[in-house]
Amino acid sequence: MARKERRPSRAIEHARLLEAAKSVHVPPQVDVCVAGGGAGGLVAAILAAERGASVVVLERDVECGRTILATGNGRCNFANARLDPELYNEPDFVRDVCGDSWLDDVLGFFADCGLAWEEEAEGRLYPLSRQAASVRNVLVSRARRAGVTLATAREVVGLRPSKDGFEVTVREAFGPQGTSCLRAQVAIIATGGGSLANGNQLCSDLGMPIQPDEPVLCPLACEGLLPPELDGRRVRSEVTLKRNGRVLQRRHGEVLFRPYGLSGIVVFDLSRFAGAGDVLELDLLPGLDAVRAEKLGRDTLDGLLDPIVAASLVAHAGDLRRALGLAKSLPYRVTGPAEANRAQVTRGGLLVNAFDPRTLRAKDDASAMARLYACGEALDVDGPCGGYNLAWAWKSGMVAGTAAAKETSR
Ligand SMILES: Cc1cc2nc3c(=O)[nH]c(=O)nc-3n(C[C@H](O)[C@H](O)[C@H](O)COP(=O)(O)OP(=O)(O)OC[C@H]3O[C@@H](n4cnc5c(N)ncnc54)[C@H](O)[C@@H]3O)c2cc1C
Repeated sequence: MARKERRPSRAIEHARLLEAAKSVHVPPQVDVCVAGGGAGGLVAAILAAERGASVVVLERDVECGRTILATGNGRCNFANARLDPELYNEPDFVRDVCGDSWLDDVLGFFADCGLAWEEEAEGRLYPLSRQAASVRNVLVSRARRAGVTLATAREVVGLRPSKDGFEVTVREAFGPQGTSCLRAQVAIIATGGGSLANGNQLCSDLGMPIQPDEPVLCPLACEGLLPPELDGRRVRSEVTLKRNGRVLQRRHGEVLFRPYGLSGIVVFDLSRFAGAGDVLELDLLPGLDAVRAEKLGRDTLDGLLDPIVAASLVAHAGDLRRALGLAKSLPYRVTGPAEANRAQVTRGGLLVNAFDPRTLRAKDDASAMARLYACGEALDVDGPCGGYNLAWAWKSGMVAGTAAAKETSR
């Protein structure tokens, strides 16, 4: 009888990856050192290496691209067919960095990697396999083909300017020595969101203006009228974000009730704009005006709403008419972000006005450091759900990697 193949346990797999990381030879001197082997860092490394630079990626995790594996619920919504700089917190900077051919550049890059993709609702682009591993793997393969040294289990803990570039201090997750050093002509900061948080040595080494991090694209803790027992119920709604009665934003889509407040993609997107004290007003019957809703719901709300949500509304309101009123305008007062450790993106990081948008090189007057570049979420750029954040990471990685290679070839 054929024996079933068993997958190695996590601990065994981790030990194997650590051993593989240890065996990677890191050259003592390179043209380009990329700190962080995630979405932006891998793309930057590929483009720099393909233009002739010697490149090392230093990644603190035991594998490159692990963040990519978690995206889009493991399916990786890697870009959007309707990219628009206006949807980001720094629209002018994003426009200047990404240019007019942003989408074509990203898709051309992935086509060259051998990735096929498909478009879903709202322009969301996914790999044909619907597996985030497809995206991660084509990047890692292309990086290897280009000759990039992928040095995993190595965290960049220091960057010191030296005569001809940087001295990079690396903390290794293996071996007795603990730290090692290498020299690089240029460095690209691609350490992702939250990586330059308070007290981080790298952050103070950079000597650059850094905006403290705050979670965005996350659920919101709210005070609402409906009981926590609705946890897990999903409703299609129109959600209006209001501040002192003024409308800030409005979105359509699915809202998920949680014991602490509200979740779902619509709420994630609104979390980029919401602050404590703001109100999320849910219209649970967005396709029905009040008159028609009243006519249809004169005997029961079960034909209009999820019956469990309907029962909860009626129990709270006391009668059908008032319950209908609530269904059209159900207020939730925001108290702050929830499950912040699971936020998809952090706002904050390196301030964009310290970087030249044509190259993503730190402006000379903004840094004590020569030849410092940045890409992805390490910069203070964030966009909505739907593939916009990865699209930024890819394109900014392309810009930084290309410019870094040009600088080292001079
Ligand atoms: C659960 C989840 C789902 C998401 N889904 C989507 C989605 O479907 N579509 C979308 O567009 N966006 C999505 N995002 C956001 C997207 O993943 C990020 O915006 C994107 O990965 C940012 O790219 P980056 O290269 O800047 O950072 P990352 O991809 O996070 O890479 C940074 C890398 O740097 C490493 N690192 C950090 N500090 C150091 C250091 N000091 N030394 C060495 N290495 C270091 C990290 O280990 C990491 O590998 C999601 C995020 C999360 C958390």
